[in-house]
Amino acid sequence: MKLKVAKFGGSSLADARHFTMVKEIVLSDVGRKYVVPSAPGKRNEKDEKITDMLLKCFSLAKEGYAIDREYAKIQKRYENIINELGLDIDLSEEFKKIYNSMQMNASQDYVASRGEYLTAIILSEYLDFDFVPAESCICFNNDGVFLPEKTNQRVQEILKKHPYAIIPGFYGAVPDGRIKTFTRGGSDITGAIVARAVMADVYENWTDVSGIKMADPRYVDHPKTMKTVTYRELRDLSYMGATVLHEDTIFPVRKEGIPIHIRNTNFPAENGSMIIGHRSAQSSEQTLGIAGKKGYVGIKIEKENMRSFPHLYCEICAILGHYQITLSHIMYGVDSLSIVVQEDPFESNRESVIDDICEAFEPDTIFVEDKIALIAVVGSSICENRENVISRICRQLKTHGIDLKLCDMGGSEISIFIGVEEKYFALTQQLLYKEFENQ
Ligand code: ASP
Repeated sequence: MKLKVAKFGGSSLADARHFTMVKEIVLSDVGRKYVVPSAPGKRNEKDEKITDMLLKCFSLAKEGYAIDREYAKIQKRYENIINELGLDIDLSEEFKKIYNSMQMNASQDYVASRGEYLTAIILSEYLDFDFVPAESCICFNNDGVFLPEKTNQRVQEILKKHPYAIIPGFYGAVPDGRIKTFTRGGSDITGAIVARAVMADVYENWTDVSGIKMADPRYVDHPKTMKTVTYRELRDLSYMGATVLHEDTIFPVRKEGIPIHIRNTNFPAENGSMIIGHRSAQSSEQTLGIAGKKGYVGIKIEKENMRSFPHLYCEICAILGHYQITLSHIMYGVDSLSIVVQEDPFESNRESVIDDICEAFEPDTIFVEDKIALIAVVGSSICENRENVISRICRQLKTHGIDLKLCDMGGSEISIFIGVEEKYFALTQQLLYKEFENQ
């Protein structure tokens, strides 16, 4: 038997029908001993996620507005699930407690975490698994920093006593017991923490897509699913906007080499994607992934003998850091320097940043180019094949009259980042997908 930790996302628990699917999946394999749920997500495009509804109530209460109407909607959603599943549980006391806490200045993290908390109670009743409170084992320090080793020890100790258990995702507690959440989407992290602690054979992450796509389906029609993705490839793809998992998910499982299996709750027979440590060089699945983001600005500074300027890099970082602008890419020329930063918060500090750069370097020219999109081609096979991949990218761009604004191989060696005008964002991804679809 393979030991599995199964995390179910919000779309997999949006209503009673999905709870039924989850039960079928969990009970179909005795190895699925530990289950980590998110809070119910949207049932359709216009619907709201429970976490968003809770946060709305929190804001209303904080500003002194009545929350009754909004709160009743949350309660109704859970009651519908309980009734439609035919469960004999009464959560009215829990709802009263959460309601009262909001009137008494409960923390935002506490309120946000209640979605997972209530879902886990229902699921533990429905599956007949033990309920393990996340605040008893997911540990943060007093500054709200997650403590991986202490958590690992606590989860191990506690789960020894629970052969089959539900652990709510997304939150834990600081030493005095106050609730602390991860950032949004953080149930993925809880799942990975539990998988590491019990040394699972696999961490299953059940969602509403059948794995990681080779390109973004919003821009590319029916992209292929990547059968395998390495942890490193996933990091680069997530950084560039691929949003299947919370970006911190891999850290706990990578330590132990536990694969993450992305699966679709609505189509459990589909293979999904396996996120693994390494892919063998002989593997026939050397798939490349393509991901991109809009909203960048390029700044080109020219000055004779720029390179001889002392502390060039530090100065630039200090100026950007002062305005909390993240430096995304930097490229040195002999007498020039190009940097790429995120439009937000550059835009609101544009004049001051330019003034500061001018004051620090007295450049001969400084040129700002707005509306740049970055697109990454990511794949471990790139390290042995870099020239070929770059030349194929350039050929596609040239053939279609797309100006290459930047080309950066990054420090990771498995990715090539290019910059194009935003108006070519979708087209570039389509062209690159076509080019690399069959490798
Ligand atoms: N429910 C939380 C959110 O909506 C956490 C999660 O779903 O992982 O962000």
